[in-house]
Amino acid sequence: MADPQETVLEIDLQALEHNYRYLRARIHPKTNFLAVVKAFAYGSDTLAIARKLETLGVDYFAVAYTREGVVLRDHGIKTPILVLHPQPVNFPQLIARCLEPSIYSIGILKAFQKAAQAAGQTDYPVHLKFNTGLNRLGFRENDIERVIRQCEESNSIKVLSLFSHLAASDDLHESQFTKAQIESFSAITKALSERLPHKPFLHLLNTSGVLNFPEAQYDMVRCGIGLYGYSNNPNVDAELKPVATLKTVISQIHEIGPGESVGYNRGYKALDKRTIATLPIGHADGIGRIYGNASGIVKVKGRQVPIIGNVCMDMLMIDITGISCNEGDEVILFGKGHSAEEVAAGAKTISYELLTGISQRVQRNILS
Ligand SMILES: *Cc1c(COP(=O)(O)O)cnc(C)c1O
Repeated sequence: MADPQETVLEIDLQALEHNYRYLRARIHPKTNFLAVVKAFAYGSDTLAIARKLETLGVDYFAVAYTREGVVLRDHGIKTPILVLHPQPVNFPQLIARCLEPSIYSIGILKAFQKAAQAAGQTDYPVHLKFNTGLNRLGFRENDIERVIRQCEESNSIKVLSLFSHLAASDDLHESQFTKAQIESFSAITKALSERLPHKPFLHLLNTSGVLNFPEAQYDMVRCGIGLYGYSNNPNVDAELKPVATLKTVISQIHEIGPGESVGYNRGYKALDKRTIATLPIGHADGIGRIYGNASGIVKVKGRQVPIIGNVCMDMLMIDITGISCNEGDEVILFGKGHSAEEVAAGAKTISYELLTGISQRVQRNILS
């Protein structure tokens, strides 16, 4: 591959297909597969990813907010789309685009019934979210009666599915907690399914849930991070392929001597003679200041070198002492051969944050 000549985020759709097939093979053939494409498909490229996954035959998409679902519909995505965290102000728009809301409180349920009725809808598909321990969004087990009664108030909606979300599916030290969540979900869904006029389908697992608790796959699984090549498990990571690779080039190289400093507030001070390189990427592109001062590692000519000093808005500096390279040479921030999970861990964060933080200023190059 030619050097990028500027900062680009390469999106490898073959890698996406590989990861999809890998995850699909871990679940029962009859289990449906929901692909989570929120936050610009984990910072990659919403439309390229959604179109490819639609071709591959995913059963559902999920986004966080209504706006994200609107973009998918307005660009021709036909697959059902679950909106995980809608707000009432967006309900008319959500209904106009045939997006399916997650209903997580009595207030949201009432507001949605009203909006669906106003739009002349009957049996509009909705998904009820239950809180089984994450304590983020959702009804609780003791809300069941109220939920049933409120659903019976009007025929504007139809409960298509019941779901919950695991708090620690990636952490086997917490497997007792996860098993309690699974049991709680089973109890809630059993009680509700008996009372609803149509039997809803059920879903609970995210990527790490699929890998660690496949017995709880129910009727559908919801995978995000695994599709993009990371899994919270080094052994599985070895089987997955990173979809996004963030690349840039060396703009300028400086030789500096002992006592000289680099960057704002003299964040780096050289003790001896060093060779440093300046890159056209900064915190406005999504490489935050947490990656400064040697917390972040980049790859140049196959070698790992540190980011030095404070990350600027549009630039950062790396130490390339002892590496033979030139202005214009390629530098890899993360991706193929340089795991985003490891880069993120260096700054005490997770791949999810690094990936989704890559800003819209960075050009996306789609490799199909
Ligand atoms: C983001 C999200 C997922 C996807 O989780 P991954 O760990 O990325 O697979 C699944 N379900 C819900 C409710 C989510 O918010």
